[in-house]
Amino acid sequence: MDEPLIERMRAYGETVFAEMTRLATETGAVNLGQGFPDTDGPASLLEAAARHIREGVNQYPPGPGHPELRRAVSRYRARHYGTEYDPDTEVHATVGATAGIAAALLALVDRGDEVVVFEPMYDSYAAMITLAGGVRRPVMLRPDPATGRFTFDPAELRAAVGPRTRMVLVNTPHNPTGTVFTAEELEHVAAVCREHDLIAFTDEVYEFLAFDGRPHVPLASLPGMRERTLTASSAGKMFAVTGWKTGWVTGPEPLVGAVRRVNQFLTFSANGALQLAVAEALDTQGEWVAAQRDTLRGKRDRLAAGLADAGFDVGVCEGTYFVMADIRPLGRTDGVELARALPREAGVAAIPAQVFYDRQEEGAHLLRFAFCKEDAVLDEAVARLSAWHGKT
Ligand SMILES: *Cc1c(COP(=O)(O)O)cnc(C)c1O
Repeated sequence: MDEPLIERMRAYGETVFAEMTRLATETGAVNLGQGFPDTDGPASLLEAAARHIREGVNQYPPGPGHPELRRAVSRYRARHYGTEYDPDTEVHATVGATAGIAAALLALVDRGDEVVVFEPMYDSYAAMITLAGGVRRPVMLRPDPATGRFTFDPAELRAAVGPRTRMVLVNTPHNPTGTVFTAEELEHVAAVCREHDLIAFTDEVYEFLAFDGRPHVPLASLPGMRERTLTASSAGKMFAVTGWKTGWVTGPEPLVGAVRRVNQFLTFSANGALQLAVAEALDTQGEWVAAQRDTLRGKRDRLAAGLADAGFDVGVCEGTYFVMADIRPLGRTDGVELARALPREAGVAAIPAQVFYDRQEEGAHLLRFAFCKEDAVLDEAVARLSAWHGKT
C-alpha cells in the first residue's frame, strides 16, 4: 500500500517527547523531557474521583460537561479575573486542553485561513492548524538582550496579520520559554485583534503557575476582548494530574457554540467522575495550588542553578514547568544532536527546543528541561550533568 497518511500530516512524525522518553528508559537516564510531575495532586481530589466512580458516576456525562464543573469554572474565572461566563452557554468541558485546542481550530479555521502564532510553540498547535487546513504565520519570541526574557517585537506581530488572518493564538504562561506575558504585551495582541476583527485563542493551562508574584493576565480580560476570545485551560497542570485530561474552554456563546458543535463528534463528552472531582477542587484547593506554585518556584531555582553550574546559559523562567538552556557556552550548537547523546553521555534526557519552531534554526541551540520533578530527581540530574561537564 502507498503511504496511507494524508499528505499534509506526513511532516508530523513520532513526537520527540516519545522518542526522548524511550531513550531515557533505554539508558536509565533521569527524564527531564516530558512535562509531568512525579508526585500526585491533592489527596482530596484523588479521593473524590474514586468516590464518584464507586458511587456510580460511570456513564456519559452531558456533552458540554457536568453542570457542576461548568459552574465551578465560571466561578473561578470570575473570582480570579473578574470575567463572567454563563455556565450553560459559555463554558464547555473538553478532554484536556488538547481537545479544546483541536475542537476550536477545526471549528473556527477554514482552508487557507491564517493563524498568527508565537514560536516556539506547543507542538499540538502546528499539527492542528495543518489538520484544519489553515496556515501558520509565526511571530518569533526571542530573548531580550538586556533581560534574557523571551518576548516579541510588536512590529513583527503587526506584519504577520494580513487579509486572510482569522485567529491569533496565544499561550501564557508560555511553554517552552517560561515567559508570562505582561498586560502591555497582551495589549499589542488585543489591539491587532480589535483592529482586524480577529478571533483570539488563548491557552492558559499554566494560569496558576506564574512565579514570583507575577500576575497571570487573561487576554479575555482586556478591553474589547471578551467578545472575541476563547480561553482553554485544564486540571492537568493546575492540580498535578496531567493524566486526567480534564479541561474546558470559556468564551462568548457564538465561539463556545462552534467548539461544542465540533467537539460532539470528536469526543462527544469527557470523563464525568473526574469532572465532578475537579469541580470540587476548583472551589476548595486554592491553598494547595498556591503551595504547589511556591514549591515549583523552588524547583526552578534548584534546576536553573545546577544547569548554570554545568555550563549552560539558563533562560529566564517566569512560569510553567520548564526552563530553556542555551548549549553554546558548552561549545555545542546542535540541540537535536546533544539531546540524542545526552541520555547515554550524561544520563539525563531533555527536549531539543528546535521541535517547537517553524524556523528551526532559531531554536537549534536550545534544550528544554522540565523541573516539575522531586528534588532528589533534580539533584541527581544536576550531579550527573556536572560530572559530564567535568569530563567534556
Ligand atoms: C500540557 C499542555 C497542554 C495540554 O493540556 P491537557 O489538559 O493535558 O490536554 C496544552 N497546552 C500547553 C501549553 C501545555 O503545556
